[in-house]
Amino acid sequence: MPTATKSRPKSNRELIFGDLWEYDPAPETADPKLKSRYDLFINGQFVKPKRGKYMPSINPGNEVKLADIAVADQDDVNAAYAAAKKASDGVWGKMSGLERGKYIYRIARLLQDRAREFAVAETMDGGKPIKESRDFDVPMAAAHFFYHAGWADKLEYVAPGREVKPHGVVGQVIPWNFPLLMLAWKLAPALAMGNTIVIKPAETTSITALKLAEIFQEADLPPGVVNIVSGEGPTGAAVMNHPTASKVAFTGSTEVGKIIMRALAGTEKKMTMELGGKAANIVFDDAPLDQAVEGIINGIFFNQGHVCCAGSRLLVQESVADAVLEKLKRRITVLRVGDPLDKNTDVGAINSKEQWNRIDELVKSGVKEGADLHQSACKLPPKGYYYRPTLFSGVSMSHQIAREEIFGPVLSILTFRTVDEAVEKANNTAYGLSAGVWTDKGSRILKMSTELKAGVVWANTYNKFDPTSPFGGYKESGFGREGGRQGLLDYCKVV
Ligand code: NAP
Ligand code: MG
Repeated sequence: MPTATKSRPKSNRELIFGDLWEYDPAPETADPKLKSRYDLFINGQFVKPKRGKYMPSINPGNEVKLADIAVADQDDVNAAYAAAKKASDGVWGKMSGLERGKYIYRIARLLQDRAREFAVAETMDGGKPIKESRDFDVPMAAAHFFYHAGWADKLEYVAPGREVKPHGVVGQVIPWNFPLLMLAWKLAPALAMGNTIVIKPAETTSITALKLAEIFQEADLPPGVVNIVSGEGPTGAAVMNHPTASKVAFTGSTEVGKIIMRALAGTEKKMTMELGGKAANIVFDDAPLDQAVEGIINGIFFNQGHVCCAGSRLLVQESVADAVLEKLKRRITVLRVGDPLDKNTDVGAINSKEQWNRIDELVKSGVKEGADLHQSACKLPPKGYYYRPTLFSGVSMSHQIAREEIFGPVLSILTFRTVDEAVEKANNTAYGLSAGVWTDKGSRILKMSTELKAGVVWANTYNKFDPTSPFGGYKESGFGREGGRQGLLDYCKVV
């Protein structure tokens, strides 16, 4: 377990009531309608993996096995691509955009109908708080299908004056942090453009993907249009390297992204890479500090910090650094960490034991390199992979915790004096996915957003997403965009 709290101010509640008052549990009770076993979804049917291999999916909130998930091998991936190719050459490739749009719209509506069930399944499989899967992941996934349903019959506006054509068959691999949402980000634009798909969800979070396959059946989506091959790393490699895929899209770590790019170099395949991040969240001394503190907390503790664009490096102007640190220390004492299914929970479970270990290793490196650790002293449930919300002050640019993506609830706090120093420190990273700027000055926001090498820059807010708004990175955070008109361009040939 991580080292104990160095200094812990009492929360306002504790100051007034001591330990007398506690919230009652408020568990979400909707039935997630889980099956004990999930097979592959190929050619419109659930099929057993050819080698008969399954892997367990664990609830990280209590370490209980939820289901067995099929592991696809090369033969299964071949079958998925054969089905996708047939659908691309046949029914889906020939269908008008107007008709395709109706299917996508139907998927969005059916997902809305089953929103609560999907939210509970997502929370149980991945560990995120139910209030996030209920209010963010599921509605946002539906919004992506709705938005792209609207595009399907208006593709002449994607590249005005030019003709756009689908790539044909697309291979996609996604991570575990937003299992359903990343699925929607990948599927919806590819479908709107008229492509067919073979997709692999992440090993620890395949359930909502395979539940969505039930919706594809309910929506009568033609067989082979979307094929879901669950599995581990080798399944992902088979999906990315398959000769039938004319385009591949990957979201995951920079490390695996590089392996894929190396394997595909010299081929004709088009690629989109959405990789890691180490975003700077920059607070100037004229910012409304209480508002900024809420943005900082959301920026790093949303989804336990398992967010590629998490504001994991806080850069605070020196004159307000002490005040901001005090406010943050107090604020983390009232974050409720625990049962992801409890509607009051702010910070749920870390997605896997493996990820917990990685976070802990990096936190230990922070202590070893001399940064000051501040952790919430909240009670943690006896079972499950929970991590205390963690702040590090006194961090310098050379510290490992300031350079590497932690992908957990850990914030590194650095300071700066001038605007130029803030820009230099923010850009001094191999990544370039996102950034935040907190200031009262409009001109400074414009200057910062021009100078920051990041795909997304939020001003006086953080972690705001919309299907109409393109998302993606610079440098080692990858290339290509998802969302908006720009995202559609990545799923077509412009002729
Ligand atoms: P990961 O280890 O790279 O895994 C991502 C996906 O790739 C998983 O489905 C994984 O399968 C699969 N995979 C593993 N080895 C592979 C290989 N050799 N070839 C093809 N696929 C392979 O990343 P992660 O730990 O799941 O996710 C966290 C990372 O994703 C973070 O770095 C985060 O920043 C990034 N991310 C980026 C964005 C963005 O939009 N830029 C969004 C979300 C997350 P297994 O699950 O079986 O390992
Ligand atoms: Mg799981």
